[in-house]
Amino acid sequence: MATAAPQTQYETVIGLEVHVQLKTDSKLFDPSPNAFGDEPNININTPCLGLPGALPVLNERAVEYAIKLGLALNCNIAEVTKFDRKQYFYPDLPKGYQISQYDYPICEHGNMVLSNGRKVRILRAHLEEDAGKLVHAGAVGLAGSDYSLVDLNRAGAPLVEIVSEPDIRSAEEAREYMQQIRNIVRYLDVCDGNLEEGSMRCDANVSIRLVGATEYGTKTEIKNMNSFRSVQRAIESEVARQTELIESGGRVTQESRLWDEATQTTKTMRSKEEAHDYRYFPDPDLRPLAISREQVDHIRQTLPELPHQRFERLVKGFGLTEYDAGVMVEFKEMGDFFELASEHTDNYKALSNWIQGDITGYLKANKLSIFETKLTPTALAELVHLVDKGTISSAMAKKLLPDLLAEGGAPEKLVAEKGLVQITDDGAIRAVIQKVMDANPKNVEDYRGGKDKLFGFFVGQVMKETKGSANPEMVNSLVKEMLG
Ligand code: ADP
Ligand code: MG
Repeated sequence: MATAAPQTQYETVIGLEVHVQLKTDSKLFDPSPNAFGDEPNININTPCLGLPGALPVLNERAVEYAIKLGLALNCNIAEVTKFDRKQYFYPDLPKGYQISQYDYPICEHGNMVLSNGRKVRILRAHLEEDAGKLVHAGAVGLAGSDYSLVDLNRAGAPLVEIVSEPDIRSAEEAREYMQQIRNIVRYLDVCDGNLEEGSMRCDANVSIRLVGATEYGTKTEIKNMNSFRSVQRAIESEVARQTELIESGGRVTQESRLWDEATQTTKTMRSKEEAHDYRYFPDPDLRPLAISREQVDHIRQTLPELPHQRFERLVKGFGLTEYDAGVMVEFKEMGDFFELASEHTDNYKALSNWIQGDITGYLKANKLSIFETKLTPTALAELVHLVDKGTISSAMAKKLLPDLLAEGGAPEKLVAEKGLVQITDDGAIRAVIQKVMDANPKNVEDYRGGKDKLFGFFVGQVMKETKGSANPEMVNSLVKEMLG
């Protein structure tokens, strides 16, 4: 990291190009299956192989998903959109061109608001087909590998490319922008948003400029990040590199750079192409597509609640902290479970704590999702209620939870079966305290003589004697009273 240069002197400017792979059954222009993880080269058909005479037919579902996504990103949906050929040569592209959209993208001029209030404008979101995948044998990447294998299962898979304006100002913001897009595509159910498997990918365009400058600096484009953490790290490392370069009198070269996870640095990949290098032209096999306002309105009406809307409702309606609400939004099923349970208790904070604490711990340890356990939302609410009423202590509830998760059942019944009811009877607790005092006269004397630390000893003995079932607050105040 560059420590030589005072970072505050420069402002970071970032624009992201995010590729979202749509969850359609078939590919964008042909009927072969759009599936991840299959045996190589089985999900193929004449159009994605580029065989002579094969004609593309547009997937209607992909168009619908793109419109959904565009609406969720506050974009205008085009009345007429068209498809263009982007020519380049690479072994994963049998046709010799990618069908994309150039001057009439399906969605334009949207925006997204980050948690710090910054509004990131979205220039466009267009449909395009994916390329195949190269598997390099004998090395991690192309360099040093013995040979490369081509898997065309992914060729022709539908993508939406979301291009932001250069409005992002830090690596942290870039990460949040990506996370918000991931949440949105999952809520819309148009993409599984899995960076590791590549169903969501991102190229980060990064430049720096002096604070107060009006012109942008020269940018580089970073590729090959496959986690949110690597998006953030790659940008941080690139900003440090550019800062150091400029501080030492050098200049940034416009180029594509590859993020190297192993060294945590970016490396030169190739000089950046210009749009004219691709020889874009309208695809003569595909007619322009008119999108009726009726269809757009219909899709708008069927949009589900979006992540930011739920976030607001969780904070304002349920009084959750922004942190807790953020987790519930990100892990949608947790939020769903929470909302179902919240119909049976008003103690939302306790529900949220259980879900994000002990329950999450159990889910991680057992590799389960929240609806896969035997615990029902109603049972969780009942557990919270039993603690609130004082029937059981929270320590007892914690002990019951694994049973409820693994075996199910009603907490109230389980409490009775296990004889777990909390002792809240004043007389009963006093009797136990008296017994402990009688058994430890020396400690009583020492405590009364000023050894305050012994207080914990008495409380501990009483809890032990009652096997943890005495109400802790009552034990505390009664021990104080009887020893005092
Ligand atoms: P290119 O033609 O090089 O692909 P574009 O103008 O299409 O460049 O922009 C691609 C992405 O780069 C967009 O997300 C845009 O916001 C971003 N971008 C453009 N200029 C800069 C810059 N100077 N610094 C950082 N990002 C930039
Ligand atoms: Mg571009």
